Amino acid sequence: MATVETKNIRKVFQEHTAVDGVDLQTREGEFLVLLGPSGCGKTTLLRMIAGLERQTSGDILIGGRVVNEMPPRERKIAMVFQSYALYPHMTVAKNIAFPLKAQGAEPKTIDARVKTAASMFGIERLLQRKPRQLSGGERQRVALARAMVREPDVFLLDEPLSNLDAKLRHMARDELQQFQRRLKTTTVYVTHDQVEAMGLGDRIAVMSAGKVRQLGRPQEVYDDPADTFVAGFLGSPPMQFFENDGALVGFRAENLLPKAVYSSNEPLVSFWYRVTRVEDLGADRLLYGSLRDLAPDTKMIVNLPSTIHVPLTPGEAYEFACKVNDLKFFDPKTGLRIPSRPLRGKA
Ligand code: ATP
Repeated sequence: MATVETKNIRKVFQEHTAVDGVDLQTREGEFLVLLGPSGCGKTTLLRMIAGLERQTSGDILIGGRVVNEMPPRERKIAMVFQSYALYPHMTVAKNIAFPLKAQGAEPKTIDARVKTAASMFGIERLLQRKPRQLSGGERQRVALARAMVREPDVFLLDEPLSNLDAKLRHMARDELQQFQRRLKTTTVYVTHDQVEAMGLGDRIAVMSAGKVRQLGRPQEVYDDPADTFVAGFLGSPPMQFFENDGALVGFRAENLLPKAVYSSNEPLVSFWYRVTRVEDLGADRLLYGSLRDLAPDTKMIVNLPSTIHVPLTPGEAYEFACKVNDLKFFDPKTGLRIPSRPLRGKA
């Protein structure tokens, strides 16, 4: 086990700054997710930690040691790519054994380690197959087994689940987290999928344009976004905003409920919500509409659990409410969080 640390790390490609002064420090055994939209610099950051890309400036530390000058193979890291990069002509057993062979390990050691890795990932029965005879999920397990066979201090994973279909991805996510918890190997995991990040990460670093905008536990980043970028990137639908008295006010679709649902002693802010359309999704009802008096021209989605039985007719306005603490305020110029304030002109 080891920690990974980057100190003011930058990467400039020709004119383009891909990573722009990132300070990060994992904890021992932590699952840290780098989350951000395409092109924000997450893969470049991961590749610099791996030693596959040389940083323009700044330091990288693994296990407390500066590794700037160290080639990838000496960093005690194992990287799994989106493509898995399995050798197509080799059996699963040979694929897993490959890094050990390359290190010149004894055949007996190789055998034992391959067996352990295979049993850990439940792929013993696949050892004699070739990669093309495996499902996407099985390939992922082989790639992970091959990564762990060298007993690395750190796992670096770049979108390893993105080739799997939605159903398999759920299972694979669960498995991956279980393996990581069992092995307790510090893991840095890159994804642009916020659901994956929320589900897997001990902490999430949300990135945009080469910078880390916020680092925190998933719930913390979701509930207390540092700025409008983070608020708008997490959640489905993302946080929704309207302008009020010089501030951008944000709330989440699940935070606005019919006023009658709340118990009487909670501090609430109420709104007249005009419903324009209702979508029944089974477990939830999605309402499309707007805040009649505060922002009549801004579309707002409300996510209502189907257990709340309220008749809603499109075209009508209803009294809805949100807990005071669920309203988040942001500076419209900088996008940064600002202290809460009373709403002017509320219903
Ligand atoms: P994605 O999710 O699409 O992989 P990402 O967040 O991982 O995106 P990076 O691959 O790190 O983003 O790329 C960050 C920026 O740096 C992008 O604008 C990309 O075009 C640029 N970039 C990456 N590698 C190179 C390179 N070798 N030469 C020039 N520009 C590059």
